[in-house]
Amino acid sequence: MHRVMITGGAGFIGSATCRHLVSAGVDVLNLDKLTYAGNLASLRPIENAPNYRFARVDICDRGAVTEAFESFQPTRVIHLAAESHVDRSISASGDFIDTNIVGTFVMLEAARRYWSGLPAERGEAFRFLHVSTDEVYGSLGEEGLFTETTPYDPSSPYSASKAAADHLVSAWARTYGFPGLISNCSNNYGPFHFPEKLIPLVILNALHGKPLPVYGKGDNIRDWLFVDDHARALDLIVNRGRIGEKYNVGGRNERRNIDVVRTICAILDRLAPKAEPHASLITFVTDRPGHDQRYAIDAGKLEAELGWRAEETFDTGIEKTVRWYLDNEWWWRPLRDKVYAGERLGLLAPA
Ligand code: NAD
Repeated sequence: MHRVMITGGAGFIGSATCRHLVSAGVDVLNLDKLTYAGNLASLRPIENAPNYRFARVDICDRGAVTEAFESFQPTRVIHLAAESHVDRSISASGDFIDTNIVGTFVMLEAARRYWSGLPAERGEAFRFLHVSTDEVYGSLGEEGLFTETTPYDPSSPYSASKAAADHLVSAWARTYGFPGLISNCSNNYGPFHFPEKLIPLVILNALHGKPLPVYGKGDNIRDWLFVDDHARALDLIVNRGRIGEKYNVGGRNERRNIDVVRTICAILDRLAPKAEPHASLITFVTDRPGHDQRYAIDAGKLEAELGWRAEETFDTGIEKTVRWYLDNEWWWRPLRDKVYAGERLGLLAPA
């Protein structure tokens, strides 16, 4: 059985990945700095499992990262720790450079030293997966899909920092023969999503009768993937993907932002009706600078090589997500204050 080191496991996708692997009996060490986005409550379903442990570690801390490799002796690394919020990267990019670029460099060097000291058989079995985004490819027009060979053309400080990290991983694979892999995924949604991101923000604002902010005309298009489908993809890629390769992950679920918001409103009208339809709260706000128009992923390589398929359509996944927020106030209630602080900083409606 593998021993998987997960960075950023207290975040949205990292916690889903921890829950998925721990439930499957895999030994997991979760390294997380617990920034504003890290939340140990998302790990409550597995926190007492004998095959799960947590260490509060900043991935930029070389000593702590090296010590974690030595003591845990992982057979796999799934590296998710990052600053992930595009709007924050526009207002303050420093943490994105530190964590996403320097932190990935620290992880790569610690992993390379550890890997090069392993006996041959264990060294050959070791894998390091960097979890990245489709935003590295920039923006699409009305037609076409991102493939693994689409040239990088990032628009925001966030996507530029993730692109830089991807290049480091590729260079480590080519230069040192390091067993790195990269996955580039579309927008995720689902349970345990921090309420500054579009879908949870809209659900919770609607429940509280607050405005539902939508950038520009709401016609930007994103390709949505249910987070548990992403966790299964990461499990497959880190175990069965080819070393040195990239894999795109996406749900074939393109939606205009305004349609995502309207869909959530329609579900809430059914599950939690109010006097006025929830859509009456929609408020158009000034567009984000450098806002990419359209992202869409061709996940054909992952499907053909590793047999992965998204299990949720957008319609089934969004219904599950809205119901989860309605049923799990214990999780999101303490985070609402953080979102109000975000609003004061002008952080309104990411996508
Ligand atoms: P998130 O913001 O919810 O979680 C990030 C986690 O990383 C948090 O728990 C935070 O505490 C931790 N962290 C931040 N800086 C750290 C540091 N210096 N050291 C250790 N831990 C640190 O992010 P997410 O949405 O779960 O995204 C996870 C990864 O997946 C990121 O690398 C992101 O770029 C990538 N990704 C996200 C999406 C998406 O739609 N959310 C899509 C594609 C790829």
